[in-house]
Amino acid sequence: MTVIDVAHLHKRYGATVAVEDVSFTVDAGEIFGILGPNGAGKTTTVECVCGLRAPDGGEIRVLGREPGDPGLRALVGVQLQESHLPEKMTVREALELWSGFYRDPADWRVLAGDLGLDGTLKHRFGSLSGGQKQRLSIALALVGNPRVAILDELTTGLDPQARRDTWDLIGSVRDRGVTIVLVTHFMAEAERLCDRLAVIDAGVVVAVDTPAGLVSRVVVEQRLRFRPSAPLDDRLLTDLDDVTTVTRRGEQVEVTGTGNLLQAVTAVLAAHHIVANDLRFDQADLDEAFVRMTGRGRGQER
Ligand code: ADP
Repeated sequence: MTVIDVAHLHKRYGATVAVEDVSFTVDAGEIFGILGPNGAGKTTTVECVCGLRAPDGGEIRVLGREPGDPGLRALVGVQLQESHLPEKMTVREALELWSGFYRDPADWRVLAGDLGLDGTLKHRFGSLSGGQKQRLSIALALVGNPRVAILDELTTGLDPQARRDTWDLIGSVRDRGVTIVLVTHFMAEAERLCDRLAVIDAGVVVAVDTPAGLVSRVVVEQRLRFRPSAPLDDRLLTDLDDVTTVTRRGEQVEVTGTGNLLQAVTAVLAAHHIVANDLRFDQADLDEAFVRMTGRGRGQER
C-alpha cells in the first residue's frame, strides 16, 4: 500500500528553484530515506509533503489525502529541523501539551524514557543542549501515535551514542507499524536504517533504490594490497577481467579493480602457490556511491 505519493513536485522561492522535479512513493511500513547534499531540496520536499508549504507544481497524496487536510493532523507526526518552543516551557509541559492535541496519544512518559529525556522533564526548553532539543522534537513528533513520521535531520547535533540510541528508537517505532520518512545527509544513517532511498540533487531525484542497490549501480572501486610470498609476474593479475591497475610499492603489490576482485586475485595466487601476506581489502561504501552519483561531496553548497 502506498502511503505517500509525490509526483513531479516543483517548488520555487522567487527566482530560486528549490525543487525542480521530484517524484517518489513511500510504502506502508518502510523507512524511506531522502538523501542529498545541502541545498538539494530535501527540506522543501518534506515541508510540501507535510502541508507546510504549497507546491508550485505536481501532486502530493499522503494516505490518499492532500497535504494540509485536517484529517491528516493526527496521522502524520513531523519533526522538522528547527524546533522552536517557548524558552520557558519545560520538557514535561511540552510533552503534556502535545499529548493533549491528539485523541489517542502515546504515553509521553514512556517516550521520554526511550529518548533519554527522563532527567530533563523539569528543565526549560531554553536551557537544553542541542542534542536534548533534538530528542524532545523527536518525542513531540511521535507522541500522537502517528501512522507516518517525518523526521528531518534527526541525528544532527547528537553524539555518536545518542545517534545509535536514536537509530534503535526509529527501528522500534517502525516495528510498531509506523511508516517513516527520514531526511538525512549521513550515509551511515541511511545505510543502517533505510529500506529504500531517494537521492536528491539540485532539486531532482537522481535515484530511488535500496542502499545495496545504490551501491551496485555505481562501479564500485575496490583495492587490494598484499606482500606476495614468492616472486609474482604482474601479468598474472593484469590478465584478469576484474583488475584495472597493478602497482608496486617496494615489496607491496596494490591491485585496483571491480567485480569479484578479491576472489579472482586470491584464486590466481593460490594456483601459483603464492601466499598474500598482510592482505588488505578496501571497497567503496554508500558514502562513495553517493558522492559519485551526485557528482559532488556532501555538505557542499551549490
Ligand atoms: P536541503 O534541505 O536539501 O538542504 P532546502 O530544501 O532547504 O535543501 O533548500 C533548497 C534550495 O532552496 C536552496 O538553494 C535554499 O537556499 C533554497 N531555500 C530554502 N528555503 C528557502 C526560503 N525560505 N527562501 C528562499 N530560498 C530558500
